[in-house]
Amino acid sequence: MGCQMNVLDSELVLGQLCALGYEPTHELASADLVLLNTCSVRQHAEDKVYSRLGEVGRAKAKHPEMLVGVIGCMAERDHEGLRRRARHVDLLCGPGNLNEIPALIEEIELARREHGKLTVALALEHDHSRREPAARRTLLYDSIEALDISRTKPMEGSLLQSYVRVQRGCDKFCTFCVVPFTRGPERSRPPGHIVEEARRLVDLGAREITLLGQTVNSYSYDEGTRVTRFAELLARVHEVPGLERLRFVTSYPGDFTDDILEAMRDLPRLCEYLHLPAQSGSNAVLKRMRRQYTVEQYVELFERARAMVPGISLAGDFIVGFSGETEEEHAATLALLTRVRYKNVYMFKYSERPGTLAERRMIDDIPEDVKSRRHAELSTLQHEISLAHHQALVGQCVEVLVEGYSKAAVRAQESEQSRGQETSWRRSDQLTGRTRTDEIVVFSGSPSLIGQLATIRVTAATALTLHGEVASGPGPLVSSPTV
Ligand code: SF4
Repeated sequence: MGCQMNVLDSELVLGQLCALGYEPTHELASADLVLLNTCSVRQHAEDKVYSRLGEVGRAKAKHPEMLVGVIGCMAERDHEGLRRRARHVDLLCGPGNLNEIPALIEEIELARREHGKLTVALALEHDHSRREPAARRTLLYDSIEALDISRTKPMEGSLLQSYVRVQRGCDKFCTFCVVPFTRGPERSRPPGHIVEEARRLVDLGAREITLLGQTVNSYSYDEGTRVTRFAELLARVHEVPGLERLRFVTSYPGDFTDDILEAMRDLPRLCEYLHLPAQSGSNAVLKRMRRQYTVEQYVELFERARAMVPGISLAGDFIVGFSGETEEEHAATLALLTRVRYKNVYMFKYSERPGTLAERRMIDDIPEDVKSRRHAELSTLQHEISLAHHQALVGQCVEVLVEGYSKAAVRAQESEQSRGQETSWRRSDQLTGRTRTDEIVVFSGSPSLIGQLATIRVTAATALTLHGEVASGPGPLVSSPTV
């Protein structure tokens, strides 16, 4: 569950388990080990974990040997609550300790063999009962770096578009956000490790790499004699032979420097896409959120980005109904959407998170129906802007990295298979891919295009998707992409 960082963490943990001889299964009843990788950013995400744990608990009742673990941010934030409310959980592991999962499994199995009873194995950044905090600190860095460099070819999914972590944690402490409490302080990885990981992924078949960080543009690695900053890291990864596209998410507006825009302008494989969360269009709200920039600075950054990087597309994040948000402050957010004209926007209703400054010092005083109405207003406005953005592309040719069959084609296959019919879905050959500027394109084409760059002429548009037709043939084939 949760963000791209969790998608990557799940892939790395799966790789470690496969090295121990585990194999993935989609049948809960046949699983020996179930791990839920969790998110704490909103209450709704945590409620979903308890609901899934109920389902897993029923499976475990029939298969008592099953090991159940909760990993990720919720394990770090609320391990006591999880132990109290989900007694069938055997293992809890925070996001900074994922490399310890094999050792935790071993610990549980040993305890079962020796005492014949279950124990809860814990590995958390704030678990001072297991080790001294100072020793933990050093080990922590080694442990999380070891997880990334242990990466193997994924057992599931496709390598075509791969994530590479460049930093962990966050030091910003925005008042609404739980991430600094669950993922700890900001730590950047050595640039040589990042470049090497990108090189290995490309050798295995990756064509696009997205560099990940909570505030990715704050990346800074001090090797004593010199400091590598984010623009330089981009230039180094960009030179990996065979890499077709490079992206990065998520940026923090306050730390965004022009050398990154220059890199986006000058490096041909670095995509012209910038995801820059604003969170609000009101300076008063930004101040209550402790976002460390003003609306004017944010807009000025976008204007510079548009001037320096031709064709750049912009995405944003917004929280509606933050503590004390007035109608005027909400109107300022609507005005910011109109002014910036994002390609797309991720918007969320404010959800108070335990332990944050907003939870301790402010009141979550906007009624749910008001949050819902404001969310709907933002959503309606952005729908119009996204539709206009997409319609402007009709008639043009775009470069698409073909990811696989479209959702409609996959649904058709699943429904035919569930009815026991011979599948005819390949005949539809409806494919999907993404442009350099992150638009989703659906088009008819040969399955041999999957994993390749294709030129597509856009013929129609909705607010979410472009539709098109192949304008030119396939480029060189890549190794075994999966759908
Ligand atoms: S920058 Fe703010 S919102 Fe983003 S992860 Fe850090 S604390 Fe959370």
